[in-house]
Amino acid sequence: ILVQHRREPSQLLQILIDVQEQSGWLPPDVISAIASALAVPRVRVESTASFYSFLHTQPAGEYRLLFSDNITDRMLGNTGLMSALCEQLWLEPGRLSEDGLVRVDTTSCTGMCDQGPALLANGRAITRLNVDRIDEMAHLVRSRVPIGDWPPEWFEVADNIQRRDVLLDHRLSPGEALAAALDRGAAGLLAEIERSSLRGRGGAGFGSDIKWRSCRDAWGDAHYVICNADEGEPGTFKDRVLLNSYFDLVVDGMCIAGLAIGSSKGFIYLRGEYRYLLDRLQARLAQRREQGLLGRNIMGRGFSFDIDIHLGAGAYICGEESALIESLEGKPGKPRIRPPFPVTNGYRGQPTTVNNVETLALAALIAVRGGEWFRTIGTPASTGTKLLSVSGDVARPGIYEFPFGVTVADVLQAAGARDTLAVTSAGAAGHCLDEHEFGRRIAFEDVATGGSIMVFDRSRDMLEVARNFAHFFAHESCGFCTPCRVGTAVVARLIDKLAAGRGSPYDLEEMAKMHVLMQGASHCGLGNTATIAVNDMLSRFPSVFESRLQSSEYEPAFDLDAALSRARQMTGRDDPGAHLGSNLSAIDTH
Ligand code: SF4
Repeated sequence: ILVQHRREPSQLLQILIDVQEQSGWLPPDVISAIASALAVPRVRVESTASFYSFLHTQPAGEYRLLFSDNITDRMLGNTGLMSALCEQLWLEPGRLSEDGLVRVDTTSCTGMCDQGPALLANGRAITRLNVDRIDEMAHLVRSRVPIGDWPPEWFEVADNIQRRDVLLDHRLSPGEALAAALDRGAAGLLAEIERSSLRGRGGAGFGSDIKWRSCRDAWGDAHYVICNADEGEPGTFKDRVLLNSYFDLVVDGMCIAGLAIGSSKGFIYLRGEYRYLLDRLQARLAQRREQGLLGRNIMGRGFSFDIDIHLGAGAYICGEESALIESLEGKPGKPRIRPPFPVTNGYRGQPTTVNNVETLALAALIAVRGGEWFRTIGTPASTGTKLLSVSGDVARPGIYEFPFGVTVADVLQAAGARDTLAVTSAGAAGHCLDEHEFGRRIAFEDVATGGSIMVFDRSRDMLEVARNFAHFFAHESCGFCTPCRVGTAVVARLIDKLAAGRGSPYDLEEMAKMHVLMQGASHCGLGNTATIAVNDMLSRFPSVFESRLQSSEYEPAFDLDAALSRARQMTGRDDPGAHLGSNLSAIDTH
């Protein structure tokens, strides 16, 4: 494995992933051996190994079964299925079985919300779980049947494309867009991208031409293109479909970005949950090299560009571009202090453009059909189309491509939503809309979104939705800065307290304060956006939260006097002096 990765320290994460695939976990002596072979401090290997949730520095079992725990998986019954599996295997969630055979736990959204409940079995996605599949899975585990021999239909991942427009309906052949870009030349191509007003599809909506020009103009020994395929936003799965069925267009888009910024090297950062795509994508890149569509002197036109695929390992924060670059360099995915920005100081300190999968695919279309054509679609401030991943309480979950400017109501109607109470417009990190806002438009100037649309009907308890989001962020915070590290944990505990019926108005005020504090003081977008949806739910559905309040007075999170009973037992005391007074029993141990 070390030789395959050229003993290159920036390959550390890939080395650890490959080693774990062979051995199931990363024992201390293996970590030491890797450190010595790469000539890096052991602590560097250890910090990377312990940062990513899919890497295990403790024995993790022959079978590692991780249930996707997005709110949509919960709505489809993942909790009951996980309990059933644990019961049949005689184990507790999160704990390795005594014989070291199996561990069952949860993980953040796996990008299968349109075909959940889902789980990862040793990193491989299994969709459409039901009671029968769980029963059979328990039998297969007990019989020690290798996961490669499990029923192949369990591993089927459908595209679920429900509505196509210019992107999903394109008829371009592999390399056609790249050939058109080469005909235009770098300057002509950039002019077309500028004319198109293409904006990044990850959600922030930064102008692609500005990003590419800034990167091209930045001084460096080398320039890099990164395709951000780490779509970890709960409820998002559009990039999964683009990579699965439109990969050539994405690769053309990356080559075109390379041409525009003067780069000969690109990386696809593929989220670990999409490991099942890796071999096929690698094979297609190899084919393209043979066909002269990738690598040296592409199409004999004097332009060289090649692509490596790097795998992530279960860290949502790596969707943030500077954290992604850290991860690509083999380090823990912690966001960098900015400025400087990646366009001037990115991968290995060199000018780097990081683009969303969808943005690159659209750039390829623009290279062929021109910027003016693109501008005729969508709205003046949000040109083109947007891919929406629609899941939750809808009759037809899946991918919808709409021109920007479509209303939320139109999307709901197309997806067969009924009796809708709320829609989260950008996963757990975006806004939550109620029925009075369904006339609003999907566009950067109105409802901006990276594409995750989760729908909740009137049967749903929005406090449980808020709780799921709060725990997601508490789990995914990288811990670098205090407002986010502490704030996400505090918000999760406050919502737990409300759900347990022990909340007071004071707790609601605390949540509102946390929202302001985290938005203003967090180091990166994760902390800035972690409480947006929860705060929207508080303001749009106040009765859901207020109905859970225990009293108008402050309520402690738990009974402290009762919690001290064991201490009283150990000291043999149970007199009044060994009990907390009524004034002290109100101490909140937050
Ligand atoms: Fe890490 Fe959260 Fe701070 Fe971002 S805001 S750097 S995720 S702790």
